[in-house]
Amino acid sequence: MTQAVTPQEQTRRITHWIGGKPWVGDAARRGPVFDPATGTLAGEVDFATDAEVDAAVAAAAQAFPAWRDTSLARRTAVLFGFRELLAARLDELAALVTSEHGKVRADAAGEVARGLEVVEFACGIAQLLKGEFTEHASGGVNVHSLRQPLGVVAGITPFNFPAMVPLWMFPLAIACGNTFVLKPSEKDPSSAVYLAELAAEAGLPEGVLNVVHGDRDAVERILAHPGIAAVSFVGSTAVARHVYETAAAAGKRVQALGGAKNHMVVLPDADMADAAEAAVSAGFGSAGERCMAASVLVAVGGCGDVLVDRIRERVSGLVVGPGTDEASEMGPLVTAEHRAHVASYLDVGAAEGAKVAIDGRDHDIAGDPRGFWLGPCLLDDVSPEMRVYTEEIFGPVLSVVRVATLDDALGLIERNGYGNGAAIFTNDGAAAQRFETEVEAGMVGVNISIPVPVSYYSFGGWNSSLFGDLHVYGPDGVRFYTRGKVVTSRWHAIAAHHSSLAFPNAGGSDG
Ligand code: NAD
Repeated sequence: MTQAVTPQEQTRRITHWIGGKPWVGDAARRGPVFDPATGTLAGEVDFATDAEVDAAVAAAAQAFPAWRDTSLARRTAVLFGFRELLAARLDELAALVTSEHGKVRADAAGEVARGLEVVEFACGIAQLLKGEFTEHASGGVNVHSLRQPLGVVAGITPFNFPAMVPLWMFPLAIACGNTFVLKPSEKDPSSAVYLAELAAEAGLPEGVLNVVHGDRDAVERILAHPGIAAVSFVGSTAVARHVYETAAAAGKRVQALGGAKNHMVVLPDADMADAAEAAVSAGFGSAGERCMAASVLVAVGGCGDVLVDRIRERVSGLVVGPGTDEASEMGPLVTAEHRAHVASYLDVGAAEGAKVAIDGRDHDIAGDPRGFWLGPCLLDDVSPEMRVYTEEIFGPVLSVVRVATLDDALGLIERNGYGNGAAIFTNDGAAAQRFETEVEAGMVGVNISIPVPVSYYSFGGWNSSLFGDLHVYGPDGVRFYTRGKVVTSRWHAIAAHHSSLAFPNAGGSDG
């Protein structure tokens, strides 16, 4: 029996954005874009050929000299305009995120709001790019420093924050005077195009921001392209490592943020109700498809039973349904394949000896049965050699590891290999302080389960969660998207001073 196709189920074609306008390419290859809440095909996205990636880089290269020379006042005015449009259209963009990613509307709006904060930070670029000046460093000699843009820079982004992660990158890159080529995830590509449209509406000159779609082929062309000076990447660890190594070997500056296995440590003195609530929110929010999701709950000193009981109680009433429904607390996973992959870890965990304390496959779903649903899952008695512990699952599966002491918890995190976020829940200030100092992670929460830094700090993990030196957005973002230059100058005649040929006072600058 064929199923009736509603107008909402008709597919859209999602194309590139090059040189300030939509670019309908050859599209020898395209990818499917689904509505994860109904399981239906919602659109098809063009995959860029090498020639199309080249066209985007050429448009960005052509736009670069004029954009680099555009006054800071004008650049800032465009950014303020973009900020206003983004705020005004937040709901539209959030709806687009929900339609292709599946996350609930409030969460999608939160993602756009966090991205908006980076735009607001970028609006302060005039202050951020100020150099240093030293008068009279030597006789008649002054020194000042500059930070200058790199040229054409590229961003490659993951599916799980289709609006926020691009916003971590391009507003600051273009504020610094660079031009940009964005390659968003092929699973939910429409938000990136929408952002480019808004930027154009705000007065961003054509070619300054370009969007090309595709999968690994488009990424490989970006990594090899001689016209691209730097690459920002966010995605899984295996790809991040590959991007870092390949782009660095091609002489590019790279920051490549990878996957995560974030530990939330609960000490026995913590408020258990707060900790359980935080674990549910950080473990199952956005269906666990967050790089800062809590995926390991470390119960210290015998507090495991009470935590598991409270989590079970909270999860039993948790509403899993379409992101468009205001009652939904958790939406579907992004694709059928990903849902199957995540669910398979329940069997893997059980076979390895973990206890399936909550099986999300049995959770009531308030939505279309064709959707990519998996309810919250809890694996108890997980130990560090199990695959469910060592591998990033990237779905609503929270593992409980029970340990005796804070030392054990710190050792567990250190040996894990990832180092994105880590959190501790406690009322003991000394324990919290020790955790903050010793934990092997780039972002730390104290009684905060998802410690994503605000936009005027920078975001980045340690170890296998980040390849490169600089974190994204905030002050590190400005450093990443600019090169330093130091100018030593003198306007007095050299002959007026005693001159010597010896270094360092060549030209008599020591006079
Ligand atoms: P992914 O690594 O599959 O894809 C990321 C990007 O790389 C996409 O644009 C994709 O098209 C491209 N890509 C995929 N496979 C490739 C390959 N073999 N060669 C070249 N390019 C390739 O990641 P995802 O599934 O879209 O996103 C989820 C992952 O991203 C998780 O591992 C998550 O932890 C991570 N993530 C990390 C952060 C962070 O800040 N550290 C933030 C968000 C997501």
